[in-house]
Amino acid sequence: TDPIHIVGAGMAGSEAAWQIARAGLPVVLHEMRPALGTFAHRTGDCAEMVCSNSFRSDDDVMNAVGQLHWEMRAAEGLIMAMADRHKLPAGGALAVDRDAFSASVTAALRAEPLVTIQPGEITDLPREGRWIIATGPLTSPALGAAIQAETGADALAFFDAIAPIVHADTIDMGVAWRQSRYDKGETEDERTAYLNCPMTRDDYEAFIDALLAADKTEFHEGETAGYFDGCLPIEVMAERGRETLRHGPMKPVGLTNAHKPAEKPYAVVQLRRDNALGTLYNIVGFQTKMKYGAQTEVFRMIPGLQNASFARLGGIHRNTFLNSPTLIDDRLRLRARPNLRFAGQVTGVEGYVESAAMGLLAGRMAAAEALGRDLGPPLQTTAMGALVHHITGGAEAKTFQPMNVNFGLFPPVEGRGGRRGRKDRYPAYTERAKADFAAWLAG
Ligand code: FAD
Repeated sequence: TDPIHIVGAGMAGSEAAWQIARAGLPVVLHEMRPALGTFAHRTGDCAEMVCSNSFRSDDDVMNAVGQLHWEMRAAEGLIMAMADRHKLPAGGALAVDRDAFSASVTAALRAEPLVTIQPGEITDLPREGRWIIATGPLTSPALGAAIQAETGADALAFFDAIAPIVHADTIDMGVAWRQSRYDKGETEDERTAYLNCPMTRDDYEAFIDALLAADKTEFHEGETAGYFDGCLPIEVMAERGRETLRHGPMKPVGLTNAHKPAEKPYAVVQLRRDNALGTLYNIVGFQTKMKYGAQTEVFRMIPGLQNASFARLGGIHRNTFLNSPTLIDDRLRLRARPNLRFAGQVTGVEGYVESAAMGLLAGRMAAAEALGRDLGPPLQTTAMGALVHHITGGAEAKTFQPMNVNFGLFPPVEGRGGRRGRKDRYPAYTERAKADFAAWLAG
């Protein structure tokens, strides 16, 4: 049989290769390193961890990423097996010895007779054969250009300018209200698509002071070229003038505070629905380079967000990713070219674990297809299924930004909603996820 080809031996590509070999099929894994490097990778090893050495929480009851660990272990994933083998003490987190981890992923793949690791960069999207593109956030420029030529300029992003995303049930609706600016929209749904948080003059001045004083991260060399025109971080806007934000993303026009109609807000922070479930909202125009700790502190100063919990914090960095909601089907195939699958961070998930999980799925789906079977994704009630549903359909295409796994992507469990119910709700999510994932594996 013809081998399945994978481009990129990172978190996703390494896991995909392993899954295909486990299914008994030959696979060729193409990797450009070390001959051609990236600004973040240091070695030529497979599955190199480019930054932190943590796979985050290993709690598979109260934490969504811990649940994803559980599912990948259940599916006999290579990345989790090697992470467990090289685990370091880190409280509830799964931290690993990064060099030993990557070396052992590489050794396991080299020892597998069905896997061929082929050095060299792939610069074009192949027309023939079955391929998985798993080239990650730092996809080589040549391949990035080829993908862009195929998908169109607007469908491939090279930067992440992420506004923070808030869990809807942590927004104080006694303060915030629903309304689109100037009540715009054809339907009631559209006219109430935004949540608005009002600020008095004192709130605004204190907020600007906090923004200016907050700790920020520096840009990497070469990361910023051509970037700043389109999408300024809010703290940079504030540096240009204290009133800039009030005339930009925080302008108070076209909005009436439903709780205090007579009082005109001095500034308004808007949040826009971020997923079909309506469980996540992004803060409009709030991309930022503030450090994570500072972001939580500063954003909780916004009236209505005093108890906000964040599904993800804001950021700006180099990241190549597709507009998956419009381009990729739920088998992770490029709709226009179904011989090509995508996996890993390039599909718009974020994180080592999430990237490896998409590799696991893509590998299993490609192997099933090569064997003449159709394998669908796990249910949205599982961590893996929640992620894949989000990127291939649940997320708003217009504002699509890479996403970590989180409980906001899970459909609610009947009878266990409510703000105060998290201690009760999270175990219900993960219990249901385990049962549904096991059924997917068995079927
Ligand atoms: P990668 O692991 O990057 O693998 C892609 C592979 O494809 C690489 O080996 C690359 O060399 C190869 N490749 C690229 N183009 C080609 C080509 N044309 N031909 C052949 N091979 C090619 N996530 C976290 O969870 N924690 C963090 O601390 C973290 N820090 C990050 C820091 C930076 C600077 C970046 C850029 C990302 C970070 N991420 C982090 C996000 C992300 O989870 C990781 O980048 C993760 O490694 C993505 O997995 P992947 O398999 O999609 O891509």
